[in-house]
Amino acid sequence: MKVDINVITDAVSTLKTASDLASSAKDVEDFSALKKKLTEMSNLILAAHSAVVSTQAQLMGMMQENFELQSKLSRVEQWEDTAARYLLKDFGGGTYAYELKTELVDSEPHHLVCANCFQTQRKSVLQFSHNTPTQQRLFRCRACSEDFALGFRSEQNYRRSPTSGFVA
Ligand SMILES: [Zn+2]
Repeated sequence: MKVDINVITDAVSTLKTASDLASSAKDVEDFSALKKKLTEMSNLILAAHSAVVSTQAQLMGMMQENFELQSKLSRVEQWEDTAARYLLKDFGGGTYAYELKTELVDSEPHHLVCANCFQTQRKSVLQFSHNTPTQQRLFRCRACSEDFALGFRSEQNYRRSPTSGFVA
């Protein structure tokens, strides 16, 4: 959105013309001529008022847009600060999670965050659930309700069931 600054200049010029008319009207003795000047003045003031109101509405819209952009920028900057604290870690077997950088472990406990949520600029700490029979560590994300089995999948402790594949 762009405010046409000429609208303000035109409105000021119109008000000056109306003011000049008011000055000249005081010397007019003919009532109909005076009435004509008053009508002209009234029209000029209304036109200037309308232009100023329209510009004011545009300015309000721009202020709102500016506020929203500032908020968005602030959220982006805040997320960049958060995201810079983590590295994507390969746990093996095609399993990944974001991990707090080693140098930051003193400032808060070591933890992992959800790779799904990270992509949508949301930090969600993964909660350990249990070790799986396939020797993986299962974590749960409470934000997106996904479970993540991290690490290489081991079939060593499995025996094959004749009916339903691998069982513990
Ligand atoms: Zn998640």
